[in-house]
This record gives sequence, structure tokens and C-alpha cells, in this order.
Amino acid sequence: MREIGHFIGGKHVAGKSGRTADVFNPATGEVQAKVALAGDAELAAAVEVAKAAQPAWAAANPQRRARVFMKFVQLLNENMNDLAEILSKEHGKTIEDAKGDILRGLEVCEFVIGIPHLAKGEFTEGAGPNIDMYSMRQPVGIGAGITPFNFPAMIPMWMFAPAIACGNAFILKPSERDPSVPIRLAELMIEAGLPAGILNVVNGDKGAVDAILTHPDIGAVSFVGSTPIARYVYGTAAMNGKRAQCFGGAKNHMIIMPDADLDQAANALMGAGYGSAGERCMAISVAVPVGEETANRLIDKLTPMVESLRIGPYTDEKADLGPVVTKEAQARIRGLIDRGVEEGAKLVVDGRDFKLQGYEDGYFVGGCLFDHVTPEMDIYKTEIFGPVLSVVRAKNYEEALSLPMKHEYGNGVAIYTRDGDAARDFASRINIGMVGVNVPIPVPLAYHSFGGWKASSFGDLNQHGTDSIKFWTRTKTVTSRWPSGIKDGAEFVMPTMK
Ligand code: NAD
Repeated sequence: MREIGHFIGGKHVAGKSGRTADVFNPATGEVQAKVALAGDAELAAAVEVAKAAQPAWAAANPQRRARVFMKFVQLLNENMNDLAEILSKEHGKTIEDAKGDILRGLEVCEFVIGIPHLAKGEFTEGAGPNIDMYSMRQPVGIGAGITPFNFPAMIPMWMFAPAIACGNAFILKPSERDPSVPIRLAELMIEAGLPAGILNVVNGDKGAVDAILTHPDIGAVSFVGSTPIARYVYGTAAMNGKRAQCFGGAKNHMIIMPDADLDQAANALMGAGYGSAGERCMAISVAVPVGEETANRLIDKLTPMVESLRIGPYTDEKADLGPVVTKEAQARIRGLIDRGVEEGAKLVVDGRDFKLQGYEDGYFVGGCLFDHVTPEMDIYKTEIFGPVLSVVRAKNYEEALSLPMKHEYGNGVAIYTRDGDAARDFASRINIGMVGVNVPIPVPLAYHSFGGWKASSFGDLNQHGTDSIKFWTRTKTVTSRWPSGIKDGAEFVMPTMK
């Protein structure tokens, strides 16, 4: 059985804790590897090498740091097919979708090639009499990233690319479900010229996370995963004096106005609702058609499309979506669908018993479509994270708007309409972090920043964009005056600019 250890100081290191977890192929249900689960000792070893390597890396000029990312981007492109295969085999998503996962991370690496410009400071000549003032952005020191299973390439790169470009050393704790791509990314960073010890991968579960949260030498923690863990990581990191940004779960709505092009809206719902088996934090899981006629027409369009979804292993090039990640996820999703039926929602397409010949032990769930879902139902309140779309019918625009406004989560939302007034009003009033106007998955590009509101995010700086440069650096402001500009005598009054 293949054993996946840790990657510390530029080397593969076997686990010491004696604890491991199985890594499955979700399409077949087979165990394909065992991953080591770190305890305090492995984390401490990673921090030691990071601490030793970081000062020289921070002192390297920013253009040198940028060049590592130029080379890394080239290596990602050259290794794209292999990386996608490794990713799909552990996650289950299709190869093309895996390439999307890698490319969205690659784009963040392209963004940080601009680090000499992005991280430069500010200068004011003559801020006071003979006084100059300048601010500089210095690295936090050692940063850590804790990532979810659903984007094993993109989300690690969201974090380590800006952190490392800013001059930090980094410890990545990937999801124990699909740990192979993060290790491969760390190897490629070394090949791209990164000094050993700057990017370390420590595999594990809660034990490794707690070791990160309590280690005194880690200055900043970035987390992406489910809301209960995001809340826990944020609170624990803060209690231990670390800066933290923690992103959680979602329930993303799409409002379909009566004037929308319904074919476009239905296609958008299919991709955003069922792509990657619904395991995206920006997946659309609730469709809100406005008016009975819009709702009836939408259901008529969606029903045959959901029934004819092609579900298969990643080796099926024509598959629209693959299995879900684990047997537990499959059971949880099926349980929630049962719950929706009990609660009285109408299950228009039932994918619970979907089976694929030759892959009977795979974790497949067929596409499901619910109609007449109401805000009181568990299937509306809970993030299902599977290929399940719920339709909630709204009488008018105000009622449609109030649904995502009142929902616990605030990650993404979309509106489909031809009416500019409605779109503008929606974008302005909605209390959600990322908004799409006729765009179903409004994930901002690398040079803007990614982050939700409400229970989808804890902390105040987003992923990538200029927010990430602020998160991974500390500001220091220097006020300077030379002796020729200093007046004689002591000053006892608070200096002001009067
Ligand atoms: P998860 O919360 O189970 O795991 C995330 C990370 O936390 C993993 O590294 C895991 O090892 C660790 N972890 C798990 N349990 C822990 C515990 N008790 N204590 C400490 N650490 C623990 O999430 P997941 O199932 O891997 O990912 C799916 C979730 O992530 C969904 O809720 C999805 O919406 C969310 N997500 C959010 C975003 C976003 O940007 N908002 C992006 C992607 C995924």
C-alpha cells in the first residue's frame, strides 16, 4: 500500500505518530493509499525548518521571489495532465474539472508574480517639519494554511502563493481525503527554485490543526472548510494571538426573474448545481424562480436535463460529474434527500438509487431536483454539498431577495434577468460577498478577492487580490527626521500638525 507522509525541509518525511487515514478512489471505493496523520512532533519539526529558512527568503529581493513563481507557473502547465489525474483519482471530479481546479490556483501564482509592485510600501516626504514618513509591508514570519477536500490544488495555492511571495515560510495542512496533489505542488515549488523549508506540507486531521493553532511561532492562519470548523479555527487562532481568516460553508441562491432567458438560466443551473457533484462552495443549491409561470417553465426545462446527466468515473471523458468524495458523504447526502421527502418537498428527479455498472462500490449519487422547497425545511437550511438542487418559488422580486438575505450563509448569489434596474438593485442590497449578474458561479479572478459574508467567513481580509498581500504582511510605519531638522529643547506637548 502506498504511504503518503509529510514534506518537510524539501524532503519526504515518514509519519511518526503511528496514526494514518485511508485515501480512497471515490469512483471504485478502493483504498489507494494511507496518509500519515501528524501530531505535535511533526508540526514542530516543520516549524523548526521554516524558522531557519525564512529570514534569508524574506531578505531575497522581491523580483527573485517572483521568478520562482514564473518558473512554477511554467511547471504547472507542463505537469497539468499528471496533476489532474492525481487530483481526480483522489477527489472524483472529472479531468477537465480538475484542470479548472489547478488553473484557478495557477492564476493566483501569476498574480503574485507582481509582488515587487504589490508589496511595496508608501512614502510621504515632509509629513511634518523636516519629517519623512514611510510604511513598509514585512512578512508575518511563518504562515499556515488548512484546506478542504473539494479544491485540493486551487485552495492551497490561494494561500501559499501570496504568503510565500510576501517572504513568509509556510506550512500547509491539506485535507486528509486528497493529500497527493498538495505534496506534488510542494515538490514543483522546489523544482522552481524555492529554497527548502519555505513550503512544508504536514498531513493530518484535528491533531495537526490543533498543533498549528497552538504553536507560538506561527503568526497567521488561513482556513477554508465547513462553518463549524471555520468558527473553531478562528476562535482558537485568535485566543492564541494569531491573525486568522477562516472561510466556511455556503447555500448559494440563484434568482430567476420572469424576464430572464430561461434556457440560459437552466443551463447555468445545471453547471453550477451539478458540476463537481455539487461539491463546490460556490455551487448553486437553491433556484428561486419569480412567479408561478417562471417556476413551472423552469421545472419543465430542468427535469429532462437532470434526468439525463451523465455521471461517471473521472476516466469517462464524457461524464458531467463524478462520485462524491466518501461513503460517509454519500450516506449524508442520501439522508438529507430522504429528509426533504419527509418534510414534504416534491422530489421531481430522484437520484438516490443511482448505480453505475462496474462501479457498484463507488460513491455515486444521481442528480436530484426538489420543487416546492420552503425556508423552514432542513434541506433549505443545510448545506447538502451534493448533486441536489432545491427550487423555492417566490411570488415577487422582494420575496426572492429576502431569501438569501435571511439565510445564515452569505458566500455567493446570482440573479438572471434582462432588467438592469433589478440587477443593480440586487447587487447593491444583497448581504452576500460574491454576486453574479447572469453569471452563476461568480468566483472573482485572482486580482480581485474571494470571500463570503455572514456564516461563510470569519475574519476581515479575503483570499487573493490585494487583501491577501495585507493578510500575509504586517505594516510597519517609520517616522524619521535628521539631526539638522531638530529644534533645541524638550517638547512636552503631544506633537500635532496644527
Ligand atoms: P472540513 O471542515 O471537514 O475540513 C476542512 C479542514 O479542516 C481539513 O483540512 C480537515 O482536516 C480539518 N478538520 C476537519 N475536522 C476538524 C476538527 N474537528 N478540528 C480541526 N480541524 C478539522 O471541510 P471539507 O469537508 O474538507 O470541505 C467542505 C466544506 O468546505 C464545505 O462546507 C464547503 O462549503 C467549504 N468550502 C468553503 C469554501 C469557501 O471559500 N468559503 C471553499 C471551499 C470549500
